[in-house]
Amino acid sequence: MLYKSTRGSIKYKNSGQAIIAGLAEDKGLYVPVNIPPLPFSLEEGKEMSYRQVAKKIIGAYFDDFTEEEIAFCVDSAYDSKFDAKEIVPLARVGQSYFMELYHGKTAAFKDMALSILPYLLVTALKKEGIKDRICILTATSGDTGKAALEGFADVPGTEIMVFYPETGVSLIQEKQMTSQEGNNTHVYGIRGNFDDAQRAVKEIFNDKDFGRSLAREGIRLSSANSINIGRLVPQIVYYVYAYLQLLKSAVIKPGQGINVVVPTGNFGNILASWYGGKMGLPIKKYICASNKNKVLTDFIKTGLYDIRRDFYVTNSPSMDILVSSNLERLLFHLSDGDSFLLRDMMGALDKEKYYRANDCIINGLSNFYGNYSSIEDTNRIIGKMYEEEGYLLDTHTAVAYKVYEDYLNETGDRELTLIASTASPYKFAKSVAEALGLDKEKDEYAYIDSIYRATGVRVPKGLIGLKEKEVLHKSKIDPGEMKEEIWKQLHVKK
Ligand SMILES: *Cc1c(COP(=O)(O)O)cnc(C)c1O
Repeated sequence: MLYKSTRGSIKYKNSGQAIIAGLAEDKGLYVPVNIPPLPFSLEEGKEMSYRQVAKKIIGAYFDDFTEEEIAFCVDSAYDSKFDAKEIVPLARVGQSYFMELYHGKTAAFKDMALSILPYLLVTALKKEGIKDRICILTATSGDTGKAALEGFADVPGTEIMVFYPETGVSLIQEKQMTSQEGNNTHVYGIRGNFDDAQRAVKEIFNDKDFGRSLAREGIRLSSANSINIGRLVPQIVYYVYAYLQLLKSAVIKPGQGINVVVPTGNFGNILASWYGGKMGLPIKKYICASNKNKVLTDFIKTGLYDIRRDFYVTNSPSMDILVSSNLERLLFHLSDGDSFLLRDMMGALDKEKYYRANDCIINGLSNFYGNYSSIEDTNRIIGKMYEEEGYLLDTHTAVAYKVYEDYLNETGDRELTLIASTASPYKFAKSVAEALGLDKEKDEYAYIDSIYRATGVRVPKGLIGLKEKEVLHKSKIDPGEMKEEIWKQLHVKK
């Protein structure tokens, strides 16, 4: 299987090379030249474990890896660090099924991909005969940083450096990162906001002299963000696995169609479901849920992608995003691989801050439905679902459920529906407590306790005892000091 850039660079890569590169030279994203069919029949798949399904699906895309290499990556990633033996349990609530993607170490869905990416990367380096040490640079607004730290901690041959805005993350998110163990982990608070941190990281990636100096030391910079094909493919697995589980418990018949609802930010998760559909999973509707930053809702409704608008900070922060990078991959596939068109559209987004889809893409979007949830509606849904169903949602999953209700009201479509549940409610404890109408508390830790007292819902392992954990990373630096700090850390380690 070969991978090519959405923007037409003629340099095809195998999967290992695409994973190492992350982004293509022409700034496009790597896509498989064709999407493979499901590597087993639905009947055969019914009895498979999560790990077995993962090996087959990931193996179908990354076919330059040997079976043993894929098995090593999958078995290392999806083990007892997940606090559910199914890895991804399904919860039936009313007539729909929540697919709980938050049972990994950091209690949010980023763990699904970031648990395996380090192993895929290290294996790819070995296959390509690259002996360099890899240094992962990550600017984070919260969730990605911790998931990347957990994924890469103590993985041989790698260093992981995370930069977060000193005042831009929650107390819990900060403590999750600053208490990170592992000999190869480095965490810095940046004096500035997320954009300052992000900009500085991008500048470091683009600094050719710095890159050459590092290369002389046998060090290569890389990124763990969600445009890497090594993050996308592992996310297809849980859609297939969930369908097989529904089949196994005779909730659906073989071949029966289902709908999926996905709370969407960078468009990675919902795109993975679409790849699953292209592989042969009978998905009828892709329901794309946004918060108040509803660029995608408008795009799906009108074909106009327009970021000339205000940016809102909401209570579902992991979806506060205007440019959904992974959409580029869908546009590429829907336009039959028209990379000239893609270059034009992405160029327009850069310069004019908007683009319009052509008829071919608009037709291709006909099995997508988009809508959004306000902060108030999100809170109302959390309260209502807990009261009526005894099921506690986090803010992101509540956005998904609100949009699902809109869809039901508009269409009356009663197809069985799978809702992606992307975070533990405890990860966004203050917002969830407010939505439940609980008393004000002094800090986020106290909100975790108060939700537990009110609901009895189990607190994820990774959040227990967090308050008492030792702070291991105390550095606060200016964005301008990042480069020097990277050099110093990597040099000391030689
Ligand atoms: C990242 C994230 C999302 C958005 O997922 P995308 O793949 O970026 O669309 C939704 N919910 C949570 C909790 C997340 O961390």
